[in-house]
Amino acid sequence: MIEKNPNFLIILSAPSGGGKSTILAEVLKAADNIDYSVSYTTRPPRGTEQNGVAYHFVDEREFLRRREEGDFLETAQVFGRWYGTSKSFIRGRLAARRHVIMDIDVQGAAQIHTTDIPHVKIFIIPPSMEILRERLMKRATDSPQEIEKRLTIARKELEYIPNYDYLVVNNELSQAVREVLAIVQAEENRVGRYRDPIKGFLKQENQ
Ligand code: ADP
Ligand code: 5GP
Repeated sequence: MIEKNPNFLIILSAPSGGGKSTILAEVLKAADNIDYSVSYTTRPPRGTEQNGVAYHFVDEREFLRRREEGDFLETAQVFGRWYGTSKSFIRGRLAARRHVIMDIDVQGAAQIHTTDIPHVKIFIIPPSMEILRERLMKRATDSPQEIEKRLTIARKELEYIPNYDYLVVNNELSQAVREVLAIVQAEENRVGRYRDPIKGFLKQENQ
């Protein structure tokens, strides 16, 4: 039997409004071997966001206690709030032979890059800054001032693109989703993920 070590983290980063959450939801619907990493954050819930589903919403004291205790694989401050990925959740899902997809910022992705956890980093951008602005306005979750702040930060985040493995332009949604799924498929077949494939292949013959 040819065996694989097939499981890895799928890191999605994008400027705010780039389409991470939308693409992620579609990828989760389409794939049956991927779980979503629910992050911890100190920001308050928005709209209908449920605790434990969108995020684990905690206060700063609890976040910093967990950070101190080494609960997080990575942490970062984004827009003045803390965000962090649960180490135990990630370990548990990978051990259960599942991929874990996560929506994290460029600082968090850089921290995961320094670990030995297998991962693939995908950056998502809309076709242009103008379209990004339009989408943020249409989403209507942020004030005009907040949108301008996010666009300024977006310019800085773009500088991190060379640190990523793949770039997906989120023009037409279904195409962007297909591209992310294709990346995951191709990554599963990396030669390095197989455990001695030649031995596995020849085993039947030698038995
Ligand atoms: P992020 O999670 O990166 O902040 P969202 O997924 O919330 O971004 O997307 C921002 C807005 O753009 C949402 O209102 C979403 O419905 C819309 N959107 C996402 N992808 C597309 C697309 N390909 N075409 C048109 N609108 C999109
Ligand atoms: P939002 O508050 O709009 O959901 O997310 C704001 C930013 O925080 C986004 O760029 C998102 O990718 C990032 N983010 C969400 N969860 C995490 C996390 O666990 N770690 C890091 N580093 N960033 C996160």
